[in-house]
Amino acid sequence: MTKILIIYTGGTVGMIYDEKTTALRPIGFNEIRNNLPELYRMGIDFYVYAFNPPMDSSDMHPDVWSELAGIIEDRYDRYDGFVILHGSDTMAFTASALSYMLENLSKPVILTGSQLPIGKIRTDAKENIITAMEIASTKANGHCMVPEVCIYFDFMLFRGNRAKKYNAEKFEAFYSMNYPALAEAGIDIKYKQNYILPAPVKELKVHKSMDPNIGVLKIFPGITRRAVEAIVNTPGMRGLLLETFGSGNATTQSWFTDCLQKAADKGIIMVDITQCDGGSVELGKYETSTHLQKIGVVSGHDMTFEAATTKLMFLLGQNIPPEEIKRLIEEPMRGELTPSETVV
Ligand code: ASP
Repeated sequence: MTKILIIYTGGTVGMIYDEKTTALRPIGFNEIRNNLPELYRMGIDFYVYAFNPPMDSSDMHPDVWSELAGIIEDRYDRYDGFVILHGSDTMAFTASALSYMLENLSKPVILTGSQLPIGKIRTDAKENIITAMEIASTKANGHCMVPEVCIYFDFMLFRGNRAKKYNAEKFEAFYSMNYPALAEAGIDIKYKQNYILPAPVKELKVHKSMDPNIGVLKIFPGITRRAVEAIVNTPGMRGLLLETFGSGNATTQSWFTDCLQKAADKGIIMVDITQCDGGSVELGKYETSTHLQKIGVVSGHDMTFEAATTKLMFLLGQNIPPEEIKRLIEEPMRGELTPSETVV
């Protein structure tokens, strides 16, 4: 029998409606256990590690990612796969962070949750959990089918660092604009093997340190110098994500370039990602991005916001020189970006 560890962190999946506060709040794993007797009929030997108290994922923090990485590291040899029940709000951040933290992962780590609590008649939680469990326990030729950190939601399996929560009310809450789904569940679960990363032969290496001292500058037409200066001068900031227009373009006004130049002179690593959900940054394609390139801004290519923020935190958390961080930002580490020449 395959052995799966369910890590229950919280999220809507295990919430109930609190009549006093009129808000949803997370409760213990028993709510899930009691509403999902099918779990015991799957022929999977599963164990549960439940956060106490469970959390709404909007309270997620890099320290919790380190805790999750540690839970997996300590039990890695004892289980065939891991299913993390997690709120959908920050699921893509956690999935991205874990993808970097768990180097040489050769077992599935599947995050799932739901849009409606498991106790609701029309809940999407049951299908999500049952299929996530099935995916985590599926093997082909003795090897795990999906040796990656993934998100399973509403019949689709996505690479975790490519997924994004794009809808707050549809059951189909996630999509992956720049990379195909790894599997689709219908009557059968159809795996797209060409898109799944091969299992590494090296041993799992877990990195638990993240540096959250990063900032985000989302530009818009009319953004003021004061607003840009406030962000660029954030005390202690070591990395800055620029969320730019289209293929990585930003205003060419000289005060803007000067602000960024000062940040570069202070050693702040700047990464350009696009505000578009699909497509990639191409520094130098337009004159409106050549000035960024000259300052030393690096390209985030087609990374999602979630994949880019957590990658920056991860790389700044490792003891590596700035030039190496810049090089690694532009390269795929865990399949999180497509280098410019590649077409997926
Ligand atoms: N606020 C919830 C959470 O992220 C939403 C959800 O689970 O869908 O924990």
